[in-house]
Amino acid sequence: MEMERTYIMIKPDGVQRGLVGNIVQRFEQRGYQLQALKLFQADEALLRQHYCDLVEKKFFPDLLSYMLSGPVCCMVWQGENAVKMGRQMLGATNPQESLPGTIRGDFSIVVGRNICHGSDSAENAEKEIALWFKDGEVVSWEDHSKAWVYE
Ligand code: UDP
Ligand code: MG
Repeated sequence: MEMERTYIMIKPDGVQRGLVGNIVQRFEQRGYQLQALKLFQADEALLRQHYCDLVEKKFFPDLLSYMLSGPVCCMVWQGENAVKMGRQMLGATNPQESLPGTIRGDFSIVVGRNICHGSDSAENAEKEIALWFKDGEVVSWEDHSKAWVYE
């Protein structure tokens, strides 16, 4: 079984709108294993690293002020194909294209307030986990429901 980790982050609008519990529940219920979770106030330097591919984009200043506007909820979830499935659970980047049943499709309307982040590759997931969490904040533990989630 190919176990993978992904970095999922609830953005300031998701935290302010009280969606942390709902989003955590979706990943838990699906069978993914929570390995880290914290509320965190990001700063500009961290966000410039996290969004290093987007700094030249026209929307970057708005993205930066959005992401600085309040605390985010940082998480690591582990499981089979966690990166791709995590992106599916989030829905399309633009909520106008996100299907109902996805997090963005259920809770958001515009791209600049799209509730959540999810890594787009296993390689980027590992980079993002290292960027947002310190040593000791990510916990690897024996999940007793594993035998009931995987064959
Ligand atoms: N974004 C935006 N306008 C755009 C494209 C992206 O405000 O036209 C924001 C949006 O919050 C998005 C984030 O920038 O989630 C990162 O963009 P990316 O293309 O990486 O989308 P994601 O990986 O978050 O789906
Ligand atoms: Mg992205």
